[in-house]
Amino acid sequence: MTATVAFAREVDVLVVGAGPAGLAAATAAANSGAEVLVLDDNSAAGGQIWRNGIDISKKSGSSLRSKTIAEFQRSEAEVLYGRAVFDAPHAKTLRTYCEASGEIETYVWKRLILATGARERFLPFPGWTLPGVFGAGGLQALVKGGYSVAGRRIVVAGTGPLLLAIAVYLQDAGAEIVAVAEQASLSALVPFAAGLLGQPSKLLQGARYRAALGNVPYQTGCWPVAAEANTALRAVRLTDGNETWTEPCDLLACGFHLVPNTELAVMLGCALAGDFVAVNDTQKTSQEPIYCVGEPTGIAGLDAALVQGRIAGLAATDKLDEATALYGLRDREQSFGRRLDRAFTLRPELLNLAQPDTIVCRCEDVRYKQLQPYSTWTDAKLQTRCGMGPCQGRICGPAVQTLFGWRNTSVRPPLFPIPLAALTTSASTTSHEITELQETL
Ligand SMILES: Cc1cc2nc3c(=O)[nH]c(=O)nc-3n(C[C@H](O)[C@H](O)[C@H](O)COP(=O)(O)OP(=O)(O)OC[C@H]3O[C@@H](n4cnc5c(N)ncnc54)[C@H](O)[C@@H]3O)c2cc1C
Repeated sequence: MTATVAFAREVDVLVVGAGPAGLAAATAAANSGAEVLVLDDNSAAGGQIWRNGIDISKKSGSSLRSKTIAEFQRSEAEVLYGRAVFDAPHAKTLRTYCEASGEIETYVWKRLILATGARERFLPFPGWTLPGVFGAGGLQALVKGGYSVAGRRIVVAGTGPLLLAIAVYLQDAGAEIVAVAEQASLSALVPFAAGLLGQPSKLLQGARYRAALGNVPYQTGCWPVAAEANTALRAVRLTDGNETWTEPCDLLACGFHLVPNTELAVMLGCALAGDFVAVNDTQKTSQEPIYCVGEPTGIAGLDAALVQGRIAGLAATDKLDEATALYGLRDREQSFGRRLDRAFTLRPELLNLAQPDTIVCRCEDVRYKQLQPYSTWTDAKLQTRCGMGPCQGRICGPAVQTLFGWRNTSVRPPLFPIPLAALTTSASTTSHEITELQETL
């Protein structure tokens, strides 16, 4: 079946992702004179960290946020929200599903910058799918969207620097933080903190978060082994490897650092280096002329995402001298990412948390014991439907990779579930017309 589409539009520079990296890339490219369009699947720009959108009149403690957004708004770059890029049916063509109109739109680009960010890693343990157990960043996002945690007792657990930031955010929203359980050991975290002496603003931020939590225990070398519920969550079982104890709570916010959103890059044929999209000095991928910035190229935080975005925006508009001037800053920020990886490496004990009956794929209700007979992700998928539900393996894929070492080797459209009605009823431009548009570029 040849799908028809609502309309097709051509742009010089198309940016996918309106998080910090995408906004910085779009600003730099637009200021170089290119026509720039940014697409994002969220209902507002800002990505994960500035999820409340890019209204700078809104109260925010971050001057970096205000500066980045003000620069973006001063530029001629345009942003469209609520558009999930799900397909690349032809060369230099992407298709989005627009939630508001229910239609499929087609964008034809000369240069493409992928800034698709990252998501949390979930690891299965008994009870992790119970109501009241959230991803740490997921709960933060819900609270930003209006969900109330006032008066709720919350255990924050998992790994990564975001745990502290999220615990403080939830506390500021009125929650009582019972404990922060960080699986990394103190001996891994001390060199990480010492390495931050060269980046005092990050050290200071960490210290501020810790101070804001006051007497809340920040337990290193400590991880969840089970969540317990009657009708609602009532406690989390934590361990330090020697002792195991019960922390009564109403909610568990649990995330094991971040995994990059590389699916679109892979679908476009961009090579990976390990888990990340491989890029050269200008942030260009193995596919000409596709650039990639921010978390898909390495989990290194906000400052790295911003400078990578600027480099790609400049390089994509042939401002190579200005891009080169930023390499030193970019390399310093990326070294922070490498230190993060070392400090927050997952401990082997986490691979044994899932019990035979523990659900691994929550979309398709696939349990750990159902996956054990298989030796590849493809076999397991075909026989159990693991990873074939609405999340398309975004949640169970990284878990399965961590538990079994299986990688998802094929990424196919649609990247996100698209209503069949949209594919069959959106009509005004055909794939024949898209080919004509491509020929004009
Ligand atoms: C859940 C979560 C919470 C976080 N909270 C914090 C925090 O509180 N403090 C902090 O310092 N850092 C936080 N971070 C880390 C922060 O996101 C990074 O440090 C950095 O800002 C990433 O910027 P980015 O532009 O690379 O990605 P992001 O900010 O993730 O932006 C990527 C954007 O691309 C969009 N996108 C992805 N794929 C598609 C597609 N196919 N079609 C259309 N749009 C797409 C996403 O919806 C998103 O808006 C969080 C990360 C996550 C995953």
